[in-house]
Amino acid sequence: MTAAKAPAAAELAGCLTLARVQRRSTCGHSGAVLALALLLATTGVLAKPGGHPRRRAVDAVIVHSLGGPDCRAGAPFFRVIDGDARHWMDTFNRLPIVSIHYVIDRTGQVAAGVPETVAATHATGWNQRSIGIELVNNGDGRDPFPLPQIDALVALVADIRLRHPAITPARVLRHSDVDRSTFPAAKHGEACTAFRRKLDPGDAFPWTAFQARLAGSAGAPH
Ligand SMILES: [Zn+2]
Repeated sequence: MTAAKAPAAAELAGCLTLARVQRRSTCGHSGAVLALALLLATTGVLAKPGGHPRRRAVDAVIVHSLGGPDCRAGAPFFRVIDGDARHWMDTFNRLPIVSIHYVIDRTGQVAAGVPETVAATHATGWNQRSIGIELVNNGDGRDPFPLPQIDALVALVADIRLRHPAITPARVLRHSDVDRSTFPAAKHGEACTAFRRKLDPGDAFPWTAFQARLAGSAGAPH
């Protein structure tokens, strides 16, 4: 927790209703922030602020997008996600539940969060063994990932691999690769259980080209 106090869960839940279709809510938080906070608050995974001590070696990178589906009345929907890397890292720093190692925005700016020596809370079941990278993107499969953002991601992953040689290109994964859970009926309704909660970074991410660049970039010799 930093000096900026995280909004209480009840406040977030109330604000989120107002913020679902507008980026600024009357509660003073951006809709994206609220969406993220509520999403995280509903994971049921409590974590220390800033992550947990590492208990095992890092052998994976998990690539996320900040945007991802919510589901209401049986229909998934996405919000617009904007803001730069610094804004989003500041947001992560205020959230009590989740943490992340890096955020890369659409211009390619990289903000570092918790150190790699700490296990951030970003991907259920993979936190201890992975480095988490969030990309500023709607995650809806349509919002394009600009080249400077991809360039920065390639460079960052190559740099991370130098420090963690067990991360092969095949161990650079999408969040959607490691979490195939669907929306819970109790919170979202029975119809939403047909839809996956984690699709990020989504179909607009140039996965094949990214993997090819990873294989050709500097890193551990695998
Ligand atoms: Zn994710």
